[in-house]
Amino acid sequence: AKSQGRGTVRFFEPVLAARIRDRRALEHDLRHAVERGELQMVYQPQTRVESGAIVGFEALLRWHHPERGAVSPELFIPIAEETGSILAIGEWVLRESCREAASWDKPLRIAVNVSPVQLHAPGFAELVHEVLVATGLSPARLELEITETALIRDPVRALATLRRIKALGVRLAMDDFGTGYSSLSNLRAFPFDKIKIDRSFIRAVDVNHETAAIMRAVLGLGRGLGLPVLAEGVETSAELAFLGAEACQEAQGYLLGRPGPIAHFAEHTASAGEA
Ligand code: C2E
Ligand code: CA
Ligand code: CA
Ligand code: CA
Repeated sequence: AKSQGRGTVRFFEPVLAARIRDRRALEHDLRHAVERGELQMVYQPQTRVESGAIVGFEALLRWHHPERGAVSPELFIPIAEETGSILAIGEWVLRESCREAASWDKPLRIAVNVSPVQLHAPGFAELVHEVLVATGLSPARLELEITETALIRDPVRALATLRRIKALGVRLAMDDFGTGYSSLSNLRAFPFDKIKIDRSFIRAVDVNHETAAIMRAVLGLGRGLGLPVLAEGVETSAELAFLGAEACQEAQGYLLGRPGPIAHFAEHTASAGEA
């Protein structure tokens, strides 16, 4: 058994070593991604369920690695958070997204994802203020998407920062609602303006009774608290029809528009005459 154990170790060692090398290489490349111009924002429409009108866009980050090609944010954001690169990257994301939105003819909303690491970094509220001033974007058009993981580590500090951001006139959305530990108490304790329900609760909501029950409960919760609900990851017209029937306010997903360069949405951001 002993030799078998050693054999197992020897078998996995090169694989593990290669993984660690690969991860170190990614960490290193990520540190230079901003200055090398390898990052890009894509935008996904957020629509009113009732009318289908686009009310805003979520800004989503893309990394075009020179050798690896497109690297998924699901892979590189956690690495950037662990190494601290997320601070420079997140600042670039905020500035770029606000600059972009400020250039539109229509006063649509821009939703920007904020990492827990950013939220807890000293001076984050001041950074948001500075970016708004520098880009000239009206604060009411900026919505920050915050996940619950950002709230639990240091709730007192998180609340203080969120209050300062709200005082600027910026809106706050609770992102990935339902996937965290204590969504209900967090909704009460923090000054959110919107509930963004995770796409895992939208999938097959039109045919799955459990999912439908959860969705109805969240919509009831939103109504009770006076918070609009946005459903993300809407892929089928049956899912959208369910949301309409249950009076969900807003939706986002491949059915309504895939994330893409803002040029793909030029007719929506320009005023009628210029589109
Ligand atoms: P998220 O905040 O939950 O963003 C929604 C994700 O769902 C995006 O993936 C989007 O492309 C995808 N999506 C939208 N509609 C559909 C749909 O109908 N079906 C399916 N299957 N997926 C859909 P993406 O762009 O790969 O981003 C993944 C995650 O990476 C985001 O999840 C967010 O947590 C993080 N992320 C992306 N951009 C940023 C950023 O600028 N800053 C930070 N801190 N995190 C970011
Ligand atoms: Ca989000
Ligand atoms: Ca989500
Ligand atoms: Ca997420």
